[in-house]
Amino acid sequence: MTTYITTPIYYVNAQPHLGHAYTTIVADTYARFCRLCGEDTRFQTGTDEHGDKIAEAAARENIEPKEYVDKISGMFRDSWPVLNIAYDNFIRTTDVEHIKVVQSILQKVYDKGDIYFDAYSGLYCKGCERFLTEKELVDGKCPDHQVEPQAITEKNYFFRMSKYQQQLIDHINANPEFITPERYRNEVLSFLSEPLEDLCISRPKSRLTWGIEMPFDKDFVTYVWFDALINYLTGLGYPDDEKFAKYWPVAEHVIAKDILKPHAIYWPTMLMGMEVPLYKKLHVHGYWNINDAKMSKSVGNVVRPAELVEEYGVDGFRYFALREMSFGLDASFSHDSIIDRKNSDLANDLGNLYSRSAAMLVKYCDGVVPEPVDQQPSDKELTDLAAKVVSDYKQTMGAFEFHKGLQAVWELIRFANKYIVTNEPWALAKDEAQAGRLNTVMFNLAECLRLIAMTIRPVMPETSAKMAAGLGLGENDPIVSSLSESAGWGMIPVGTKMQEIDVLFPRMDKKKEQAPAEKPKNQKKSAKKEQVAEQDDLISFEMFQKIDLRVAEIIAAEKIAKSDKLLKLTVKIPEERTIVAGIAEHYAPEDLIGRQVIVVANLKPAKLMGVPSQGMVLAAKTGEKGAQTLVLSAVSETVNPGDKVA
Ligand SMILES: [Zn+2]
Repeated sequence: MTTYITTPIYYVNAQPHLGHAYTTIVADTYARFCRLCGEDTRFQTGTDEHGDKIAEAAARENIEPKEYVDKISGMFRDSWPVLNIAYDNFIRTTDVEHIKVVQSILQKVYDKGDIYFDAYSGLYCKGCERFLTEKELVDGKCPDHQVEPQAITEKNYFFRMSKYQQQLIDHINANPEFITPERYRNEVLSFLSEPLEDLCISRPKSRLTWGIEMPFDKDFVTYVWFDALINYLTGLGYPDDEKFAKYWPVAEHVIAKDILKPHAIYWPTMLMGMEVPLYKKLHVHGYWNINDAKMSKSVGNVVRPAELVEEYGVDGFRYFALREMSFGLDASFSHDSIIDRKNSDLANDLGNLYSRSAAMLVKYCDGVVPEPVDQQPSDKELTDLAAKVVSDYKQTMGAFEFHKGLQAVWELIRFANKYIVTNEPWALAKDEAQAGRLNTVMFNLAECLRLIAMTIRPVMPETSAKMAAGLGLGENDPIVSSLSESAGWGMIPVGTKMQEIDVLFPRMDKKKEQAPAEKPKNQKKSAKKEQVAEQDDLISFEMFQKIDLRVAEIIAAEKIAKSDKLLKLTVKIPEERTIVAGIAEHYAPEDLIGRQVIVVANLKPAKLMGVPSQGMVLAAKTGEKGAQTLVLSAVSETVNPGDKVA
């Protein structure tokens, strides 16, 4: 299998922001996922460097356009390693090879009769670099730039886009996966239900010199799209290089929805005019809103990727971006939401699983993966889930549903954490007779870590490498780097020796991380606040978050011999566990069956009257001192046992 994945080439009139970073992380993750699946993969990104906006920006800085684009293109190129983006080719539209290919294509389409010269009058917006239709204006102004467009009449070259309208409609109808998600396919089809106009593809040199000269008319340069979109071909050495023959038939483009029309309509019709087969797929994503407002320079809420990496780490940011946004829909960015994801999913779920399992492997097995000998039904539940997770993961990641792919992996992580609680390795370790069982549990945990390290590899390459190294596996060992060879259960070799274990994700404090600049100014005040907090026995939100409150369903209850107060309860949360509760004087055991109560699920296990208790049932104390009654906590509607209370 072969894959060719591209980002748009970014226009170099601004530095990279969150939107650019997201598109590029998506393409990088997909490329890494394809490589994990054993596919021959090529990933291309780059910069778009012609047009009036560039010429104007260079003039403002009093430098030549070439010097200006070298500078900004360099900023893009330099920002990608910071995000761990591993592209195979970085293309620039000022590359000599690109210019040659654009000119040869223009000549070919011109000779064929698909390009003609005609007068055009229209309303031109400089910001958009195009003519706007009356329909697009809001109160007579360009809605994106809030300026009245200029009325211009000039002669220009046009591409006969209308000629290919029906052919494009037929192609989209015959290939449901050509444009995804479906909402964008529908949007394009709806646009194509109206007659398509021909595409203006030139600018007179009197108005713009910073562009690629028309090969058949020295007084004109080509307009930005006919230059920019062709990068997807020139990056493969079109037309003669073997890379073109190999990768073009499997080309997949990733874009944000603002450039849907050029990619879904201009580009395929251009390819038809050029007699080049169409790309295979177009993947379209939504926008990031910043604290629920649209990101814009004028609002001053532009988020810089490098700053996010500095604050949250490269993997923290990559994970957040892919987990938070459902590909295709808009998503919301805030520092709080990234910290929440980092603390709950990364530090709590993944980080804890890794450090607990690794520490126990060291403590109980001398850091060597032991041989599993004593498989039990609960193990089958784990191995069945692992198989389901890997299959869901493959299917969703391949379909650009990255948030679902990660959800699947987290299902395994959360189950593995529960598996530790249910199997109590620390108890097994105390009993010689249980040595075989302990080895099995520890082997299974090591194997979970291996599968997790492999599946998070496309999204969090650094963390995956750390986990693999901790397990004593090489970063490129096929059992952590090849989904095609190593997706099955039980592949971690017995005898593998663990190496040093790092903390994967330290927890983050919201207030501290969010406003470091405010700290010195308000030091006195916050010191005072802390005092007040101490006096009032207030706890921080973080501390509260550590308490795992859940809805538990009581499935069995019995009195404990020699105790008037204690009942032994068996509850489902959703796995079964025993909790001893001091409610015998207030409830009869038979009245409790089927009740849902709220429990603290992560209380340290204790023994009460010789009965082990794993958790605490919450109840209200009511009535006069000395004559108090206990009333059990409850939820107002029946929910699933194990649901979190927060
Ligand atoms: Zn505009």
